[in-house]
Amino acid sequence: MDRNTSVLELKGIGKKTETLFAKLGIRSVGDLLAHYPRDYELYEAPVKIAQASPGSVCAVYVTVTGIPNERRAHQIHILNVNVADSSGSMQFTFFNMPFLKKTLKQGGYYLFRGTVQMRGNKKVMEQPKLFSLEEYKKQTDCLIPGYALTKGLTNLTVRKAVRQALDLCESQEEYYPPQILRDCGLIPEREALESLHFPANRERLLQARRRLVFDEFFSFLYLLRRNRQASEGVENRFRMFETADTVRFLEHLPFSLTNAQRKVWQEIKDDMSSPVCMNRLIQGDVGSGKTILAVLALLMTAANGCQGALMAPTEVLAAQHYETVAEYVRRYGVCFRPVLLVGSMTAGEKREAYRRIETGEANLIIGTHALIQDRVRYKALALVVTDEQHRFGVRQRERLAKKGEDPHILVMSATPIPRTLAIILYGDLDISVVDELPQGRLPIKNCVVNTSWRPNAYKFIAEQVAQGRQAYVICPQVEEGEMGNLENVVDYAEKLRCALPSEVQVAFLHGRMRPADKNRIMEEFAARSIDVLVSTTVIEVGINVPNASVMMVENAERFGLAQLHQLRGRVGRGNHQSYCIFVSAKEDQETMERLQILNRSNDGFYIASQDLELRGPGDLFGVRQSGDFSFRLGDIYTDAAVLKMASDAVDSLMAEDPQLERPQHRALRQRLDQTAANGVDFRSI
Ligand code: ADP
Ligand code: MG
Repeated sequence: MDRNTSVLELKGIGKKTETLFAKLGIRSVGDLLAHYPRDYELYEAPVKIAQASPGSVCAVYVTVTGIPNERRAHQIHILNVNVADSSGSMQFTFFNMPFLKKTLKQGGYYLFRGTVQMRGNKKVMEQPKLFSLEEYKKQTDCLIPGYALTKGLTNLTVRKAVRQALDLCESQEEYYPPQILRDCGLIPEREALESLHFPANRERLLQARRRLVFDEFFSFLYLLRRNRQASEGVENRFRMFETADTVRFLEHLPFSLTNAQRKVWQEIKDDMSSPVCMNRLIQGDVGSGKTILAVLALLMTAANGCQGALMAPTEVLAAQHYETVAEYVRRYGVCFRPVLLVGSMTAGEKREAYRRIETGEANLIIGTHALIQDRVRYKALALVVTDEQHRFGVRQRERLAKKGEDPHILVMSATPIPRTLAIILYGDLDISVVDELPQGRLPIKNCVVNTSWRPNAYKFIAEQVAQGRQAYVICPQVEEGEMGNLENVVDYAEKLRCALPSEVQVAFLHGRMRPADKNRIMEEFAARSIDVLVSTTVIEVGINVPNASVMMVENAERFGLAQLHQLRGRVGRGNHQSYCIFVSAKEDQETMERLQILNRSNDGFYIASQDLELRGPGDLFGVRQSGDFSFRLGDIYTDAAVLKMASDAVDSLMAEDPQLERPQHRALRQRLDQTAANGVDFRSI
């Protein structure tokens, strides 16, 4: 048995469970080990009722103060029980658990654990779990992992499977040279996997996480550096000159460039006409207007008789860029001959696109990963632009560039990262910053509210829709039951259909839908035949629907502030006043204070840094700082120190043995090649 063994070989896993695991991308024992917990539940010592804060999960040790009250409503048996301790009282509600009536005796003492909620001004718990004191004591202060699940698969099934996988899988040979292990204080990989899945305590968990985060960063940075070696100081084969095309285009545009945009445009022109090939990152907050800069560079390329390609992370975004460009052609007669290439096109459509690309009939190719398929051959690829760069792996960027002969490279990103980190993560690129928003934008109005405010929010959305606007509603999960009791897209859309007037068109969107369906929904939203779009964070990347004026985020407490800021960037893109409603299911002071930061600032860099400061680097699970640079565990903000360490380790190793050819580096070399081959490419899920 090794890491390639199928999960079917494990005890208790039959065909049915195998299918469920496959839904999560888990096929082998190795996949299972790499299915890291999403968070951990800590069974803390019981608290007094007075200290149990609404929204939090806690245990209370209470006495039953009255005779349990039972009734039936719509086939459901409801049992209400009043309880108290020395500090106060609360009520428990149980559904379809009639037998509890006999178990719970008036005057008896019991330990319950559940989520505290407010009903009026009364504290309540719904379906809390009953524990014996003994049983609870055993679990106290243990960290119980919670895994990403799918309907039909329980957390316990995953835990059991992971336990077997760990027991059956022997340790692998250590691949880091001893010096790296020592200098960076890393524990062995096998031990790290054990402690990540079954942590003995918090300290062991953090050690485990540190090792695995280091692994992620190390391989990412190594591949990045290797890439850089290949791209540095490459001769410019496509020296380009400014033509009347870009000048005229700028004159036609309904707006003039901001100073920041003008500066970056100059840098791009200088690069593309210099003796050395362009390798540039454009960093700018959401809405700062990066797309137009890409369009200008692509137009200069087309005007110089060459081909340019624009790669976007999603079909929706690619289609949107294509529309923008097609509109410029129609309206201003710019010299683009654009073609769209995405996975969901029919074979015939693709063949036609390939033909136009290969013959050079198309001088601007817009698409998704489809652009890097082997089948695609370019005539004269001189410029490669990747939008929302963090969504692509290093290898994908590399592959697109290889489609041409040393094309110019331009990457665009809205990830707010401080300069020190940018140099590590984008070491192979020159950096331009668009640090100014276009004029005349009305600042977005924000509010942070609890779930009881929902009816007002729905009323507000209905009003905005009546005025011709559109709204987004974001939920953290796709369908019911993946994680605790979080809102999910599918059910929420149904709920909204009932809550909003019948003429309001509600639809939903999530990452597991077929690309063609996603495109259709986004097109309908852009065309305003959908008024309210319920979505997961797939919407976070780059979408531009200026008519949308409301962004409502459910379970806002689950998101990193930088990510919420990205979501907020989807509205306020036109000239309508826009609004953000952050709904938090947790109401403790810490959560509220954290979310209030969004109220105070519109600056992505500031927000990310404040979030980090407030939560402290110790708080590593639960909330992800941002959906960008989607490492499986690592987070570029919270793990900045490990990132720096991995970066130094890669640098010194490469100085010593750039190709890792020495015998003592063979294991590491193998491991990195394997990582690259497996396509563990740090793309977003
Ligand atoms: P992002 O930087 O997030 O990719 P976009 O490029 O999508 O932002 O631009 C957001 C919106 O701002 C678009 O509708 C775009 O047409 C508009 N825009 C870009 N530059 C300017 C400008 N200088 N003045 C006014 N509007 C602009
Ligand atoms: Mg964009």
